[in-house]
Amino acid sequence: MQPKFSKNDFLRMHHSLDKIEPSGIFSRYVRGIGVPRKLWEHILDKDWNDWKWQIANRIHTLQELQKFIPLSAQQVSNLEKVISVFRFGVTPYYFSLINFQDREHDPVFRQIMPSEKELEGWGKGSWDPLNEEGDSPVPGLTHRYPDRVLMVLTNFCPSYCRHCNRKRKWPQEEHNITRERIDQMIHYIGKNLHLREVILSGGEPLMIPMEDLDYILWSIRRIDHVEIIRIGSRIPVTLPQRITGDLLTLLAKYSPVWLNTHFNHYCEITSVSAEACEKIVQSGIPVNNQTVLLKGINDDVQTLLQLNHALLKIKVRPYYLFQCDPVIGVEHFRTRVAKGIEIIEHLQGHTSGLAVPIFAVDTPGGGGKVPLIPNYCLSFSPEHVILRNYRNQIYQYQEPI
Ligand code: SF4
Repeated sequence: MQPKFSKNDFLRMHHSLDKIEPSGIFSRYVRGIGVPRKLWEHILDKDWNDWKWQIANRIHTLQELQKFIPLSAQQVSNLEKVISVFRFGVTPYYFSLINFQDREHDPVFRQIMPSEKELEGWGKGSWDPLNEEGDSPVPGLTHRYPDRVLMVLTNFCPSYCRHCNRKRKWPQEEHNITRERIDQMIHYIGKNLHLREVILSGGEPLMIPMEDLDYILWSIRRIDHVEIIRIGSRIPVTLPQRITGDLLTLLAKYSPVWLNTHFNHYCEITSVSAEACEKIVQSGIPVNNQTVLLKGINDDVQTLLQLNHALLKIKVRPYYLFQCDPVIGVEHFRTRVAKGIEIIEHLQGHTSGLAVPIFAVDTPGGGGKVPLIPNYCLSFSPEHVILRNYRNQIYQYQEPI
């Protein structure tokens, strides 16, 4: 069921969005405001709440986008060039979260709207800065850390985030993994006895056909040395309707399964995404969140504080805050590394440790993640350690004799 708000309630909530308190989550209506609302008024709830309807009605051409946003001929021409390289697509649900009264500054709009800046940063960054392809013993399977591997199952996503670090996969046609490729990956995992965790990723791994997902999970679970299956999915954010009973029953069969999702802003937390996360947790699947630090979207303390508090309220643990990778086409989203450390400095101690994610930089060339924290340890000696607390007070801590 969609929340039932009067138009006035809705406008009031939107106007107060900037002052939103963590307790004010779920206040975004999910049928848009202004133009989108009018265009979707006739859509029945049963259709709107059906993930297949959402996929069938994705906005993925500039012609469709122009029903919602006026674009000049020059803009259309420029954006055609952008989306011929970096494709465009967004579910009506995720698009409906945009506050059209101030869309240029809206965090959802900025995450999904193609921008000429994607081509301006062409010479900066690389297609694969983390060298995932180089660390792939089997195409699509990255083996970087000793005890875990990552399987890319598709290059399809319900909504394409402009900051995605796998944009290199976008110029190819949308496609899912083949059975032959799955079997090659499973064979590799089975041979490597030190692998204890398999991460399913994409694209959006929860969008591959259920029978393929079942086959992959079943094949992994047959390997004795694999303990944990982790799924990296933005479905709770961009298409929460996909979290159906059938899907959860399937995932729960292969427990322990963990799910890492990707909320970047508190305005992405709606009653619908909250319900999806609740259902996932109730199925015995712990949910963690990985946020990407994005310039002009969430690179300030208040936004991340509110996001992390809101996540905890829907039982999602803020796990990582990632520095945005230097990928071609995302340069305009990148912040300086010091910004992330500064944000953690303002969170650590000032709020519950549960609301403080690990800030990490993925090192270029495949060196792996490096966690970065403000410097709280000022000096060591054999007898004691000098520590600084979150209030900048200095303490001497006695070492064991
Ligand atoms: S959902 Fe994930 S894989 Fe898909 S575009 Fe967004 S960040 Fe990239």
